Amino acid sequence: MRDGEQTPGVSLTPEKKLRISRQLDKLGVDAIEAGFTAASEGEMEAIKLITKEGLRAEVFSFARGVKSDIDAVIDSGANAVFLVIPASDLHLQHKLKKTREDVLSLTEDCTRYAKDHGLIVELGAEDATRSDPAFLRKMIGTGVSAGADIVSPCDTVGILTPEKAYAFFSDLIKDFPEVPFSAHCHDDFGMAVANSVAALKAGVKEVHATMNGLGERAGNAALEEIVVALKLLYNIETSVKLDLLYDTSMLVSRLAGIPVQPNKAITGENAFVHESGIHTHAIVSEPLTYEPIPPEVAGRTRRLAAGKHAGSRGLRAALNEMGINPNEEQLKQIISRVKTLGDKGKRVTDADLQAIAETIMGLPKLRSINLEELTVVTGDRVTPTASVRLNLSGKILIEAATGIGPVDAAMNAIRKAVQRLSR
Ligand code: MN
Repeated sequence: MRDGEQTPGVSLTPEKKLRISRQLDKLGVDAIEAGFTAASEGEMEAIKLITKEGLRAEVFSFARGVKSDIDAVIDSGANAVFLVIPASDLHLQHKLKKTREDVLSLTEDCTRYAKDHGLIVELGAEDATRSDPAFLRKMIGTGVSAGADIVSPCDTVGILTPEKAYAFFSDLIKDFPEVPFSAHCHDDFGMAVANSVAALKAGVKEVHATMNGLGERAGNAALEEIVVALKLLYNIETSVKLDLLYDTSMLVSRLAGIPVQPNKAITGENAFVHESGIHTHAIVSEPLTYEPIPPEVAGRTRRLAAGKHAGSRGLRAALNEMGINPNEEQLKQIISRVKTLGDKGKRVTDADLQAIAETIMGLPKLRSINLEELTVVTGDRVTPTASVRLNLSGKILIEAATGIGPVDAAMNAIRKAVQRLSR
């Protein structure tokens, strides 16, 4: 969560971080890097809140190689620290402005200090994949003799390839057979997931990952992709409950305000949608033909989409799912209408398909709730406020609400009205 939150434009409140942590714990991850305690009061508050939850997962806080950062982790009550110290000359010279000797003593002092205060220490060697291998080994040796519990030589700028990742970690494990390693991969070349899997194959004990692959620049390794690949391509079980991946992805996307790209593996909206007529035809008779991942494994459902590529079988199946059963002639007309819309460049949604079918088949239109009135007040010195009047088959519901903007206020008012209804 710490690296995921480093996505440009993302900033999570302590309450949001708590909600995400609860969900990640439910999902079954072993550890949550919940934030960076020394960064702000909000971060400190968040980690305190999360620590108090008594989650099954270990709660980590990030810290730099600075004593005050480690003090903040101790104060927060977190039981573990991800202590990150630069390893490459590039970072030493241009960021830290310290010598290699400085870095070694920093590694020793900070690790020992954190251990003396009872923390689990995961020592991160930043930019390790661009560091001098001999110096990296000195740094790891220093950290381990000072008590580091696990070492994460980070691929900070994502320059590994699967072959290099395998060699990089195999060599380290050969040199430090007693040390548990973890992989921290970034996705600058789109290889973070493949590199993480290669690192596991080389023998690392842990991989760092974020939901939806969030993170700075191109992001980090996507948790959902790693665990589904392990299960279905490598036949390896993890503690992660795959059927909770989609809910977790949506929660993180919503709270972080970062939409998931539609064609994203596992969690993208289109990942289990079939539109092409040739595909839907085959899918309807045998899902395996075009579905390497059974949707339910990842908490998803298959959807056959309308659209100009859809064939009659696919459209009929999509309509049947909505409880609409057109005859052959009606289906022909529906298909022709869908294709005309598609050729005009319009995306045909399920709602469009339903409307087209209802028109052609002369079905009564189902409209359970009518928005009869919507008033919104907004400005630079006013709290955005909205009032709505809904008509539910004759039953009138009037509600008002405020929000962080006019749309939010309107949504809140509608939500309040609908909630009253469900009570
Ligand atoms: Mn990172």
